[in-house]
Amino acid sequence: MTDFAATKAMFDLPAGMVYLDGNSLGPLPRAAAARVARMIADEWGQMLITGWNKAGWMEQPTRVGDRIARLIGAEAGHVVMGDTLSVKVYQALASALEMRPGRRVILSDSGNFPSDLYMAEGLIASLARGHELRVVAPEDVAANITEEVAVTLITEVDYRTGRKHDMADLTARAHAAGALTIWDLAHSAGALPVDLVGCKADFAVGCTYKYINGGPGAPAFIYVAPRHADTARPALSGWLGHEAPFAFDTSYRPGAGIERMRVGTPPVLALAALEAALDIWEMTTMQEIRSASIALSEQFMNGVEAACPMLTLASPRDADQRGSQVSFRFKNGYAAIQALIARGVVGDFRAPDIMRFGFTPLFIDAGDVDKAAAIIADVMNNRLWDKPEFKTRARVT
Ligand SMILES: *Cc1c(COP(=O)(O)O)cnc(C)c1O
Repeated sequence: MTDFAATKAMFDLPAGMVYLDGNSLGPLPRAAAARVARMIADEWGQMLITGWNKAGWMEQPTRVGDRIARLIGAEAGHVVMGDTLSVKVYQALASALEMRPGRRVILSDSGNFPSDLYMAEGLIASLARGHELRVVAPEDVAANITEEVAVTLITEVDYRTGRKHDMADLTARAHAAGALTIWDLAHSAGALPVDLVGCKADFAVGCTYKYINGGPGAPAFIYVAPRHADTARPALSGWLGHEAPFAFDTSYRPGAGIERMRVGTPPVLALAALEAALDIWEMTTMQEIRSASIALSEQFMNGVEAACPMLTLASPRDADQRGSQVSFRFKNGYAAIQALIARGVVGDFRAPDIMRFGFTPLFIDAGDVDKAAAIIADVMNNRLWDKPEFKTRARVT
């Protein structure tokens, strides 16, 4: 059994704050600061260029990728770190489209995060081969997997509502129609068990600054199924994905397997912080995280719904249909979230009217949920949000 009091103690959380936004940016693991400082002083400072060999910086993207693989049900040796999630979406999509040259449709849904859709639009424009991005309602994805579809580009858990797709079912339907699948795990990795191998996913991508707690701008990951790993052509053919980067050939030959999905120099400092965050994941299992997350989410949903009739649940009530967040709709949601943050309950707002709260058992417990629910009841029932200072929109909401 996971000792969640022990995992909570591994984070540096501001006193008095209930942080229900680990789904957007995970908190600071206490060990990260020392880890990064040590890396800077002993490796960068003392080893300089020799750190690439001596400190293993060059293997870091696959070494860390193997640790991520354990959280997402991937085979070891098939996940690599680097770049941002938007870039990895582009790379996976470009590779997948090439593998289905006779097909023109990319299927996604309106619950997808806009960056994924924007990257698809940009790629379509660059290819200029008449591809179409078909965006349907989330509940209509299955019915739209036809033989026109080259690839499905689906985020498993909706960033606004927390609604969760059935990865096994949609992947099987895509394969039956001859299509490939790209799963975006931004709100799944570290949030719930994922079984890429069992689902036979083709590609998966995700970020590590949300539930995994790697820190702002922590690098993304990409997974390519072993059956495609030596044939998928990495559209972003950078030197570190080359078969022999230090041969400095004038033309590109893709590296073996997942190595080819590397692009340029890895973010070594950011990966060091991420490694400190991943140590905490050794203290638990995704199954235990999931049970604890469901318990916390239900406690929160029940507490808030009982006390706040003005809030409308936007997340599925059935835990099997939900990720690790609970969202409510409220017309003045932006101001309400600002008022809650002023009271130490940190959630976030997603336009047009979503108040979003993430449940992350590594550092949130039942006492936090009771405290948050009581503060939300006070702020909502006494209209404490109805003040000019809570209504001015900041750049990041
Ligand atoms: C958070 C998120 C992103 C963000 O992409 P970055 O390139 O890391 O900024 C992209 N897609 C989804 C589905 C997300 O939830």
